[in-house]
Amino acid sequence: MGIVDSPPGYVTGGEIRFRGRDLLTLGREERRRVRGTGMAMIFQDALSALNPVMSVGAQLGEMFQVHRGMSRKAARAEAVELMDRVKIPAAASRVGDYPHQFSGGMRQRIMIAMALALEPDLIIADEPTTALDVTVQAQVMDLLAELQREYHMGLILITHDLGVVADVADTIAVMYAGRIVETAPVHHLYRAPAHPYTRGLLDSIPRLDHKGQELYAIKGLPPNLTAIPPGCPFHPRCPLAQDICRSERPPLHDVAPGRTSACHFWKETLDGAR
Ligand code: SF4
Repeated sequence: MGIVDSPPGYVTGGEIRFRGRDLLTLGREERRRVRGTGMAMIFQDALSALNPVMSVGAQLGEMFQVHRGMSRKAARAEAVELMDRVKIPAAASRVGDYPHQFSGGMRQRIMIAMALALEPDLIIADEPTTALDVTVQAQVMDLLAELQREYHMGLILITHDLGVVADVADTIAVMYAGRIVETAPVHHLYRAPAHPYTRGLLDSIPRLDHKGQELYAIKGLPPNLTAIPPGCPFHPRCPLAQDICRSERPPLHDVAPGRTSACHFWKETLDGAR
């Protein structure tokens, strides 16, 4: 998204391709245009992402005023319509309310409305339901999935909740220590993971048919990102680690069509999971 100031943030390498172009080659102004109209973001904590001293209608309307040159009145009408779309009850009478006057779930709906405002091709949702209870979480995820279909948008969902992933995702990329360690179509990954970390995550989900048994946990702690272990970053915690894992970082291997794994022993992991 290019929303981290540089300095201090910087991209060390690679490309970020969107609509066939590398975003890293775009100038500041062009990049700003892509944000909002091309892609938008839903943040984790709606209360800190929304401006507490502006009404939600003014915050939503500002998008239309800035990007579409609309008058204040027309932008407000659009804001009401958007609030309706994300199913905020009595939108017309609540458009002048401030963020603290809404519940957590309703605030997250307002965040979704802001992301949708300019009908982007892609939405990046960063833990959009973490702060919500399970019932509201399910409602917000259903709404996101419904709007995604309706608007034909791409959705990148960042989450640690494997239940949410199973419901919503087509393809999963599992990350460890800041890097992708496995990618796969959702059902393949759940059925037969090709990386020991993914396997550990799946084994950590409590199961009703394992009643009375001790819950599984991956041993150890995630590494300090300023002191990532040499070789495979997962080796201090991995039950399959061998000497090679301590010295050589595994590349992302193609393990099947549409599947990759960054493990020297992906075959053994896959076979063990089958
Ligand atoms: S490369 Fe080695 S340490 Fe890393 S996940 Fe695979 S088996 Fe485990």
